[in-house]
Amino acid sequence: MDVDVLVVGAGPAGSTVAEQLARRGHGVLVVEEHPRVGIPVQCAGLVSQRVLSLAGSNALVRTAVRGATVFGPSLGAVSFKAAEPRAFVIDRGALDVHLADRAARAGAEFRTSTRFDRLARTEGGRNVVQLTGPDRASLEVRARLVVGADGVSSAVARAFRLRRPVEILPAFEAEFPRAPGDAETVEVYLGRSISPGLFGWWIPDGQGGARVGVAVDADGTPARVYFERLLVHLERRFGQALVSPTAFLVSGIPVGLIPRAHGPGVLLVGDAAAQVKPLSGGGIYTGMRCAQLAASVAHEALARGDLSAGALAAYDRAWRAELGEEFRRALYLRRVFQRLNDADLDRLVAALQGSRLAATIVAFGDIDFPTHVARQLLRQSPSLVRLMPKALGAWVSPGTGQVPALEFERRK
Ligand SMILES: Cc1cc2nc3c(=O)[nH]c(=O)nc-3n(C[C@H](O)[C@H](O)[C@H](O)COP(=O)(O)OP(=O)(O)OC[C@H]3O[C@@H](n4cnc5c(N)ncnc54)[C@H](O)[C@@H]3O)c2cc1C
Repeated sequence: MDVDVLVVGAGPAGSTVAEQLARRGHGVLVVEEHPRVGIPVQCAGLVSQRVLSLAGSNALVRTAVRGATVFGPSLGAVSFKAAEPRAFVIDRGALDVHLADRAARAGAEFRTSTRFDRLARTEGGRNVVQLTGPDRASLEVRARLVVGADGVSSAVARAFRLRRPVEILPAFEAEFPRAPGDAETVEVYLGRSISPGLFGWWIPDGQGGARVGVAVDADGTPARVYFERLLVHLERRFGQALVSPTAFLVSGIPVGLIPRAHGPGVLLVGDAAAQVKPLSGGGIYTGMRCAQLAASVAHEALARGDLSAGALAAYDRAWRAELGEEFRRALYLRRVFQRLNDADLDRLVAALQGSRLAATIVAFGDIDFPTHVARQLLRQSPSLVRLMPKALGAWVSPGTGQVPALEFERRK
C-alpha cells in the first residue's frame, strides 16, 4: 500500500496532523493500535479555551473551571477565583473521537487495531513501514512521510533514531463517581511525600465526581503509592473518605526539550516529541498546536517533493519559535521547584496568600503559558524569591529576559 503520509497514533496530535494534511489534498493513512479511538482515556481532560478553538467544538465541555486552590504539604491553602471560566474539563475520549471524525471527513483513512512495528527500509526515498493489523497479519506501507504521533513511548522515534532524552514522570489517576468539593474549582496538592516533582490534582468532572491523580519524579516508587498518600491527604482535607473509584489509569508524562523532532521523511508531534508543558504535564494544547505547525511544513515539503531533514527542519524552528522559550523557562522553574522541601512548599503557599498576588494570578494566569504569571509574581514578592534567591533572583532581575543557565545553587 502506498500513501503520502502515514500518521501513527490517533490521539489529538495525530488526528490534527491528519486532518490538516488530508484537507490540503494529501493521501493520509492513520493507524491506531487500539480497537477504538479515544479508549482508553489517559488524561484528566483539563484544557484552555485554545483547545476548544483548535477542536472547533464546545460540545466536549463537561464543566467550566473558574478557580484553583493550591494546598501546601500541611494543608495550608490559597485560593484564586476569576469571574469568568479560565479552563474547561472536557470529555477527553470524545475529543479524540471528534478530531478523528473531522480528519476522516477531510479524507484521511483510519485503521484501528493496527500497530506500527518498525521501519523495514527506505526505498526510492520512501519509508517502507511494517504494521501489524487486526488479524495479526503484517502489512507493509510505503509512505513519503511518517508522522510519529504515538505518544509517550513513541516507537516511531525509536525506529527513526530520534533521541528523546526526556524525563518520563509516572502518573496515576482515578475517577471518583461522587466527590465533595467545589464543582468550579480545581485543587492542586503540593508535597514531597505526595507528589515529588509535580503535584497531585483533584479535578471536578462536571457530573458530581472528580478525577484525582498524581504525577511524580521517577524515583523508583510506583506512582500508585503516592496516589494512595494523596487519598489520605484528601480524607483529612474533606473530613471524609472518598467513595470507591470506578476507573484507574497509569501512564507517563514526558518532560524535556528533545534535540530534534524531525529527520529525513519523519516528524514527531505531541507527546512523542515531548511537547508537554513542563510545569503542569498538560500536553493537549501544545501537541495540537505543534501538529498544526507540523502539517504546514509537511504540506510545503510534500508539494515541493523534498522531504529531506533540511526541508523538515522548518518544523522544529516553527514550534520552538512559538513554545521554546516558554518551555525553557518552565523547565528552569521546574528545576527550582524540584529542590523545594516541604517547609519551602508551605512557605510558597503562605507567600501566595497575599491579596495582591492572588489578584495578579487571577488577572494574568494562563494554564498554557504559566511562566508569564510566575515571573510577575516573583517580581512582586521578595518572599517568593527568597525560596531560592540566586536562581530566582537571577531570572527576575531587570534586563534578564532569558532564563539563566540550568545550573544554580545547591540545597543545603
Ligand atoms: C494522568 C494524566 C493526566 C493528564 N491530564 C492532562 C490534562 O488535564 N490536560 C492536558 O492538556 N494534558 C493532560 N495530560 C497529557 C495529555 O494526555 C497528553 O499530552 C496528550 O494525550 C498527548 O496527545 P498525543 O496525541 O501526542 O498522544 P496520545 O494522546 O498519547 O495518543 C497517542 C496514540 O498513539 C497510539 N499508539 C501508540 N503507539 C502506537 C503504535 N506503535 N502503533 C499505533 N498506534 C500507537 C496510542 O494508542 C494513542 O492512541 C495528562 C496525561 C496523563 C498521563
